[in-house]
Amino acid sequence: MKNNHTPTIHHSLTLGWLYPELMSTYGDRGNVIVLQKRAQWRGINIKIERINQNTNYKLLTTCDLLFMGGAQDIQQEIVNEDLLTNKGNKISEMIEDDTPALFICGAYQLMGNYYLDSNGVKINGLGLFDMYTQAPQTGERLIGNIVIQPKSIPHSLLPIPYLTGFENHGGRTYLSNKSQAFAQVISGYGNNGNDKTEGAVYKNAIGTYLHGPILPANPELADNLLEKTFARKYGIKLPSNKTDDTFSKKAKGNILKKLKASY
Ligand code: GLN
Repeated sequence: MKNNHTPTIHHSLTLGWLYPELMSTYGDRGNVIVLQKRAQWRGINIKIERINQNTNYKLLTTCDLLFMGGAQDIQQEIVNEDLLTNKGNKISEMIEDDTPALFICGAYQLMGNYYLDSNGVKINGLGLFDMYTQAPQTGERLIGNIVIQPKSIPHSLLPIPYLTGFENHGGRTYLSNKSQAFAQVISGYGNNGNDKTEGAVYKNAIGTYLHGPILPANPELADNLLEKTFARKYGIKLPSNKTDDTFSKKAKGNILKKLKASY
């Protein structure tokens, strides 16, 4: 007899994990684990392709979803060199073609028009998000726990009232009038500590400063990414999730209470 709890694996997704060795600070790899587990718990097979400087850019064409974590300026420079000369065009093409993607902190900065680092070096980005980032000469960083209220999660099926995370960045990001912020800051700094915007959204790509890592702290965002990826690939709704999120909800509730945002 078939065990109802054993999912039949007949759908599969490929996650392109960009520069895992260089771009993965503050536990960003936890995002990959959460996407993998939450897909598997739905009976979806998930393949993780680690993509670094030595990988042929053509491997990107097999990916249904992209993820890149954060890092410091030195790693960003190395990675950006490869992006501009090797993989950037393909990544831009995929984002234009509605591939879902999540870019954290240093990765988010590289997807803007440019990043002016703390030494005054200008690192040209891919320009997916219409924004620029500038690091202060003084080295003052924006560090701490953060709560944001999403404004524009692309094709969100479920309302996501608040997201929590941890930010640590020197760069201040400024969005152009045309670009869409990902969220509004409820508590913390966000893009620049002044205008209350956090992150950016373009098509199905999200850029955000939230480490934490963001997806274990906010599994509903992981589900949203999986929903979009699955619907884009198979044209059907993502199978429902039988997981018990009691503990992650409790943890998030406590953080929100601490940071004085109602949940
Ligand atoms: N170099 C960037 C900054 O400090 C990114 C930091 C990060 O990814 N945590 O602004």
